[in-house]
Amino acid sequence: MQHLGVLKEGERRRLVALTPAGVQRLGKQLRISVQRGAGRGAGYSDEAYTQAGATLVDSAEDILRQCDIVLSHDSHYRSEDVGTPKTFIGFFNVLSEPAVVESYRKPGTDLYSLDLIPRTTLAQAMDVLSSVASISGYQAVLLAAERSLATVPMITSAGGTLRPAKFLIMGAGVAGLQAIATARRLGAIVRAYDVRSASRTEVESLGAAFIEVEGAVEDKKAGGYAVEQTAEHLERIRQTIHQEAVLADVIITTAKIPGRKAPLLITEDMVRSMKPGAVIIDLATATGGNCALSEPDATVMRNEVTIMGPTAIEGGCAHSTSFLLSNNYSVFIEHLLKNGANAEDEILRGTRIVKDGVLVNERMLALARPPQAAASPSGNGQAQAAAEKRS
Ligand code: NAD
Repeated sequence: MQHLGVLKEGERRRLVALTPAGVQRLGKQLRISVQRGAGRGAGYSDEAYTQAGATLVDSAEDILRQCDIVLSHDSHYRSEDVGTPKTFIGFFNVLSEPAVVESYRKPGTDLYSLDLIPRTTLAQAMDVLSSVASISGYQAVLLAAERSLATVPMITSAGGTLRPAKFLIMGAGVAGLQAIATARRLGAIVRAYDVRSASRTEVESLGAAFIEVEGAVEDKKAGGYAVEQTAEHLERIRQTIHQEAVLADVIITTAKIPGRKAPLLITEDMVRSMKPGAVIIDLATATGGNCALSEPDATVMRNEVTIMGPTAIEGGCAHSTSFLLSNNYSVFIEHLLKNGANAEDEILRGTRIVKDGVLVNERMLALARPPQAAASPSGNGQAQAAAEKRS
């Protein structure tokens, strides 16, 4: 029986990649060790892990020394730890940070990164990105509501009637749609924009109004993701959004393009024209930000507008996020155990970054090719430069 080790994550997110229920589920096929305290930050006690059948070990070094498969959501292994043949599974942001892969280019080492899971029906249950995005969208609304000087729903009381808050959501993917749904549940009036025309029906089905900006570039080959827009179209978006921003009490931005810098949608000029007391939550600061003034993990005040750029907001609901992640990782590990020998398996081919120490992932290899050869929509100037330096 193979031995799976679950590492304690970094302090920032307080998440755990496998909950006691996950241990119980995978325990039929694997022997499982969990680093002591791994679930504490997310509300899962050491006792719950032992009751579920796991063995507790004291340190990350013990996990790395003893286990065949090592699971951790955050990519925080050190190069020197990855010494012995192992399968590593986690969420490594490999397109944005390709250098992270270097530690795993050692004979006998395999690396699977679930940020590259294909967006297919079969892979949906393993989609860690989607779980994190969903919680982030929800949390962003709560954060904005908490920081806003105004209430969100319409409230009628003896002192008069408070009008419902106006929310503007930029980017209607997983995080944006969850933000729309949460803001609507709180009673806000919500307007939203996305460059993917397919998102219009989803936005409208949640009771929000879709903002029309004609001329967006879409690419069917991009796997359901957005592609980079022309400078003209970005300018057209900004002009339309400027008028929307003036009216908004809250703006939540979630616009991203895989492997590229996030599009700049909210300019300094727009912030200057917003109402005093308005709040902007930028969920894209890890990849450059959608707002010109936002900073990763910082709160910036400008003209009495609060601008926040949290990069690990999902850690605020660590118990629930870990529940979702644990289900995602459990399904993935079961899939790996069943299909590991099948070189053609789409899910494993998509997420396998390193095989026996060799970089094998097609999307990562495309980054390493010169720009004209790498026609992938996920190409990234920075990442390309790093990958070229490496090869
Ligand atoms: P994402 O996090 O990469 O981007 C967030 C959103 O920003 C996207 O909707 C994107 O279109 C939008 N965006 C990009 N540039 C923009 C701009 N200039 N202006 C406005 N919006 C902009 O995307 P995501 O949330 O991961 O979802 C992308 C797609 O993948 C969606 O269609 C989603 O339904 C789909 N999806 C599929 C699966 C699956 O089938 N397994 C799982 C999750 C998501």
